[in-house]
Amino acid sequence: MKKQRLVILGAGESGVGTALLAKAEGYEVFVSDKGKIKEDYKKVLIHNEIEWEEQQHTEIKILSADVVMKSPGIPDKVELVQKLISNTIPVISEIEFASKYTKATIVGITGSNGKTTTASLTHHILSQELNVGLAGNIGDSFAKQILEKNYKNYVLEISSFQLDGIIDFKPNIAIITNITPDHLDRYDYKFENYINSKFRIALNQTKEDYLIYDADDEVITNWLKTNTIQSTLLPFSLTKKIENGAYLENENIKITIDNKHIIMPTKNLALEGKHNVKNAMAASTVSHLLKIRKQTIRESLENFHGVEHRLEQVLKINKVQYINDSKATNVNATYYALESMDAPTVWIVGGTDKGNDYTELFPFINEKVKAIICLGIDNEKLLENFGNMVDVIVETQFMSEAVKIAYKIAEAGDNVLLSPACASFDLFENYEDRGRQFKNAVRNL
Ligand code: ADP
Repeated sequence: MKKQRLVILGAGESGVGTALLAKAEGYEVFVSDKGKIKEDYKKVLIHNEIEWEEQQHTEIKILSADVVMKSPGIPDKVELVQKLISNTIPVISEIEFASKYTKATIVGITGSNGKTTTASLTHHILSQELNVGLAGNIGDSFAKQILEKNYKNYVLEISSFQLDGIIDFKPNIAIITNITPDHLDRYDYKFENYINSKFRIALNQTKEDYLIYDADDEVITNWLKTNTIQSTLLPFSLTKKIENGAYLENENIKITIDNKHIIMPTKNLALEGKHNVKNAMAASTVSHLLKIRKQTIRESLENFHGVEHRLEQVLKINKVQYINDSKATNVNATYYALESMDAPTVWIVGGTDKGNDYTELFPFINEKVKAIICLGIDNEKLLENFGNMVDVIVETQFMSEAVKIAYKIAEAGDNVLLSPACASFDLFENYEDRGRQFKNAVRNL
């Protein structure tokens, strides 16, 4: 029988992982990257005798594919992808391809904010009692883990771009953490397209599968009112009583599934902030479904270390707490950061604005923010929005200077918070670079 030909566009973590799995599964594999391929990945391809090219897409080699796996970074609108689609060649994502080769139980986590935190926390709890891998946008690719580790369960962090490329993929348990406008440039600037993309996580679910979601999020609840899915729904809420799912009752998380309850105190949760109570609800609901012991869930929620660059406590200097929330690249993430501040705060904000509307932050600025340090190339919008709201507002384009100014302004008992609400690309390589520079500057004080 003739081998199926799989062409992979983009030789990053997911592309190279998929190439390895596909080769092992007997495909003829060709990897094509329009840019330069990282040396480490090139070595893997050569070592495994997988054909590849870089800095070009040779159409004749690509249009001969039976199926194409596209990196989530490549938009659908590029000409080559359009050509594939008009030639009726299926263009799929890594999770679609890889999930065919595992029988594991899959927990798929999507949403605009909180994916990495919720996925890491869920994995942390499950790994106490189960054989479980963590993949998706985190660490080694899902495809590579299926090939090399063969876990019995996976927790996957799944972006909307990955979901755009699914056909049959279905998680046994899905989570939608929340939906706020993001990445609209990839969705014809229509929020509804982005919402539909997120809900593809439930597209192939049946009533044996579960969808866990934030019942306080109107975008989610409105979508559910007007669309039909088969999934068994397990919402969570901070504000209302939930019969089947999770809610807050006297500072405890109460989870009910099939009339069985468990109760978790929120007092000793390792992660602070209301958003993290929500993340804990989602992760605990999954854990309860997968029959993790109550005691294990409780302890794991208390000893989880958190994820770097997400409200990460860096250092306390002269009784001032420095907090790195560099991953807050949109207003909603910063909203929760400011909400969780329990002391006067010097706020470092700014970067590449993605069409931000800052209005929902105003109450927190009045209440908690004593000074604002704008860290971006273009700070005009920040000055316009916040100029009249605080006594001190300054501009800089250097992290070290931003931290030094914050050090001068902050007094014992205050917080210094980096939560930019913007992308990092004007002054930094990425949000990790921005967060690291912040931490180094703090350590050098
Ligand atoms: P993602 O992987 O979806 O980008 P992260 O867990 O990396 O999410 O967190 C991104 C930012 O959002 C961080 O600033 C974090 O503090 C904040 N955040 C985490 N969970 C939530 C949530 N449930 N709702 C809103 N913001 C959140």
